[in-house]
Amino acid sequence: MIRCYIGLGSNLANPLAQLHSALESIDRIPVTRVVASSPFYSSAPVGPGEQPDYVNAVAALDTELPAESLLDALQAIENDHGRERTVRWGARTLDLDILLFGSEKLSTKRLTVPHPRIPERNFVLVPLADLAPDLVMPDGTPLQSLLQQCPENRLHRL
Ligand code: ATP
Ligand code: MG
Ligand code: MG
Repeated sequence: MIRCYIGLGSNLANPLAQLHSALESIDRIPVTRVVASSPFYSSAPVGPGEQPDYVNAVAALDTELPAESLLDALQAIENDHGRERTVRWGARTLDLDILLFGSEKLSTKRLTVPHPRIPERNFVLVPLADLAPDLVMPDGTPLQSLLQQCPENRLHRL
């Protein structure tokens, strides 16, 4: 059983409902259980062009799936929620990113874990710290020091 953390985001088609539904779907992935979910946050978009604000959260899971199978399941849930892949970092109905997979470091064509953009994203760090304030990254960096160094972007708890 591996503890992992998933970042959830949506800024289209009722983001709050997208995240609630996504959490239910994640809990139905085989040999996987949602252990906790963070509060929801509203955040300023960082991608290209004009976009609505995002709703973001982080979920803690326990899974017996290998990381790539978990990614397959998460991408299937994104697709079920109408995710279209057009513009990189464009508006989306649902984004599910594997932030951490136990203390593993993975680097394959499809998967980089820990997620490489965690340190620059307060919409990931803040809800992750809600769930696991004492977390230490696989490279030994405490989550709290990432939080202190993260650029400030508009973020408020819903
Ligand atoms: P960002 O990664 O900056 O948050 P994004 O979430 O918008 O961008 P996506 O379009 O959702 O990017 O995913 C693009 C590809 O990223 C996926 O097809 C997937 O193979 C790859 N990927 C690499 N590492 C991860 C990870 N840790 N979690 C999810 N997808 C990943
Ligand atoms: Mg993402
Ligand atoms: Mg993604």
